[in-house]
Amino acid sequence: MKQSELLKSIASLTPYQKRKLEIYVIDALNLNEEDRDLKPKRCPYCGKESRMIKKGFKNGKQRYMCKDCSHIFTYNSHTITMYSKIERSMLKKIVLDTLSFVFVKKTAADLDLSVPCIFENRHKILCSLKVLLYSENMKLSGTIEIDETLELESQKGCRKIQRKARKRGGPSSYRGLFHEQVCIVTTTDRNGHEIFKAVGYGKPTKNSILENFLKNLDPKSILYSDGAFCYDELAKKANCSLVQLKITFVIQHRRTYQYSEQYTFANKRSIGWIQGYRNKIHEPIHELVCICS
Ligand SMILES: [Zn+2]
Repeated sequence: MKQSELLKSIASLTPYQKRKLEIYVIDALNLNEEDRDLKPKRCPYCGKESRMIKKGFKNGKQRYMCKDCSHIFTYNSHTITMYSKIERSMLKKIVLDTLSFVFVKKTAADLDLSVPCIFENRHKILCSLKVLLYSENMKLSGTIEIDETLELESQKGCRKIQRKARKRGGPSSYRGLFHEQVCIVTTTDRNGHEIFKAVGYGKPTKNSILENFLKNLDPKSILYSDGAFCYDELAKKANCSLVQLKITFVIQHRRTYQYSEQYTFANKRSIGWIQGYRNKIHEPIHELVCICS
């Protein structure tokens, strides 16, 4: 959603809904200020509920250091008040004026601030609202494809690497999937919505899939997946019908419709192709659905 569309949808709200939105945003700002003296529960960089230690002050704000990733942050890191120098009462006034479509120049005159200052703060507020709306309200519907892929964990940018560095992007030194292999589950529908989420290490479990994707599926959709069992429960709970495309089924259909003479099971080339298939996301399922429909 673009900012202009966001503003249009705010303009179409009823006065009651607009008031509710204002209260919600102001409450979020107040809550952020109340958390000033509390220790953050989660690290904003690695997202873990890890051990934190106090690490001095910066601009009058207590700094904390995450013992896992060694990043240093304050209570409002990665929020819209992070680099804000203006008073909170002024910021609240800017938020209210943004939601009520008051001109930038009028807000600047009322608060005795410069026009660029009001413009930048307004832009920040609209951007954060956009991100919030996008992440919470995205719903996949109709024909949905779901699949997972495994990628080697990267600790690039971490100040404390917990393992020996892999030279030139080399493979993992462990066998199996449960060490250093991050599982990324990807979903897409025909309306261009895509959700990519890292759900943990190794193969995805039923619970991790439910936790991450249950609220994003519209009921009565058709869910296409490979034969993995972890998607059965998701389809049942989200009230969707599940179509499992087994790998042999996909290969047979591809052979029949597209690759009838190019690929045979016996030769090395087809084995390479199957290995390539395992790493690709969506593409074979997408093609097959196009062929069959
Ligand atoms: Zn961390």
